[in-house]
Amino acid sequence: MTRKLYYEDAYLREASAKVLEVRDNALLLDQTIFYPTGGGQPHDRGTINGVDVLDVYKDDAGNVWHVVAEPERFKPNDEVELKIDWDYRYRLMRIHTAMHLLEHVLNLVLPGEWKLYGSGMSVEKGRYDILYPENVNQWKEQIIETFNRLVDEGGEMRIWWEGETRYTQIRDFEIIPCGGTHVRDIREIGHLKKFKRSSLGKGKQRLEIWLED
Ligand SMILES: [Zn+2]
Repeated sequence: MTRKLYYEDAYLREASAKVLEVRDNALLLDQTIFYPTGGGQPHDRGTINGVDVLDVYKDDAGNVWHVVAEPERFKPNDEVELKIDWDYRYRLMRIHTAMHLLEHVLNLVLPGEWKLYGSGMSVEKGRYDILYPENVNQWKEQIIETFNRLVDEGGEMRIWWEGETRYTQIRDFEIIPCGGTHVRDIREIGHLKKFKRSSLGKGKQRLEIWLED
């Protein structure tokens, strides 16, 4: 199985690896810093030996495949240099961790139960689709204030494994199983720039957040 360096250190921007296999336009490496699409987080961008990485995905065996622009430039046993687009990844790490914090903030602020039934993220924004009987806009200011206050206070994001499952926890907040990449401290998230609620009908609501740069 590919050694997943992004789990050992999410802040690695460069690494070396060995090509194990070239299949069609995809490379299998012995280890990688490229996060594959999964858990709502988009795959990393970057280069392998200067060649653009177009897609990164994980197969059922847990191996990570890197689709590259010029596969003919690689062969098994090549030593290669990996470089991820750090600006892009770091934005994803911030928005991803922000979604965990938002879950905690909604638990603090919204009276009664709310239920998450969908989510997504990009470098631009994060999205939660939730079921909740009241219009969340009533608590918009409180959500933003609480979120920003917690960011200012800061707090470590802990990550640990139990068997095959990877768990995350900000401070002593909710324990959330998650396989994505996160910032070390929630201070790095930065403040919310914008919070938007839209109705999807029948108590379904879409909550979107944007972060300050
Ligand atoms: Zn996560």
